[in-house]
Amino acid sequence: MGQRNAMDIASALLERQKKSWPLLATNYRALEDVKIKTVRIQEETVRVQYNPARILSSNAKVEPHEVRQRPCFLCLTSLPAAQEKIAIHPLYWLLCNPYPIFQAHFTLPYRYHRAQRILPYFADFLRLSKNLSGYTLFYNGPRCGASLPDHLHFQAVMSGEMPLEAEVERKLKKGLPIVKRLGTATLYWFSDSLRSGFVLLSSNSADALRLFESLYHALPLQPLEGDEEPKMNLFANYKDRQWRIIIVPRRAHRPRQYWAMDETHFLTSPGAADIGGLFVVPRQEDFAKVTPALLQDIYGQVCWGRELMNVRI
Ligand SMILES: [Zn+2]
Repeated sequence: MGQRNAMDIASALLERQKKSWPLLATNYRALEDVKIKTVRIQEETVRVQYNPARILSSNAKVEPHEVRQRPCFLCLTSLPAAQEKIAIHPLYWLLCNPYPIFQAHFTLPYRYHRAQRILPYFADFLRLSKNLSGYTLFYNGPRCGASLPDHLHFQAVMSGEMPLEAEVERKLKKGLPIVKRLGTATLYWFSDSLRSGFVLLSSNSADALRLFESLYHALPLQPLEGDEEPKMNLFANYKDRQWRIIIVPRRAHRPRQYWAMDETHFLTSPGAADIGGLFVVPRQEDFAKVTPALLQDIYGQVCWGRELMNVRI
């Protein structure tokens, strides 16, 4: 499928589904007058979105025993009747996300029921992001915001909707420290007041894969917490014949406020969008509670800080 073609197909799919799928149409309409609070934390921006439709996702049951007790909403047999699917790749469908947090929000599930893992599918992630240039693809690790960790999927949204993308672009222009080079691929390190991570630039997918692989094996793994891969969120786009991949390794799945039983309780299960600076809050009482200090505390718990610089690749 050609590039332009794939982008047109995605937007045409969304327009059709807005007409044919009432649940999706309602949630897209609700998104138009969703409340947004813009919070500045040093150089960084966080757009806090009050989106009650996302309560299911923030509260998603993601532990293995919980996952076994519910149907898989990304398997072909349980897709809602109104959901249209497009074969964007031999192994992936393109679907509209009926609970959007972005103006155009797609899910790209693998055709078969396989656990959410990045390394075996990183080459697919690159290929899909190249096909959907103009969009940013993102990946939520199984305990990093994915509400269906038992079924491999990526998501796609228009590029530039998450503040982190522009912030990283600015940092690249100013010059970021290089961690490693491999063929055409270069890995940079970045850190800001909310999170630390890596940026991988490459014009060749094999080089990008090899460099990603060496980073993957160097990242902290927390097997005692049940992790089968290092916790991370990824963002990829393809522009000017080059991939730009932002990798934000994660320290924790949820902040302590998620578990708190007192007035500090705050419902959030941060995923790529939140980490990217579009922070979704499904409960009104939590939206009212948001302050720069609270956000910084949450990011500080779920992301790594400057200690990530010690990772040896
Ligand atoms: Zn499934």
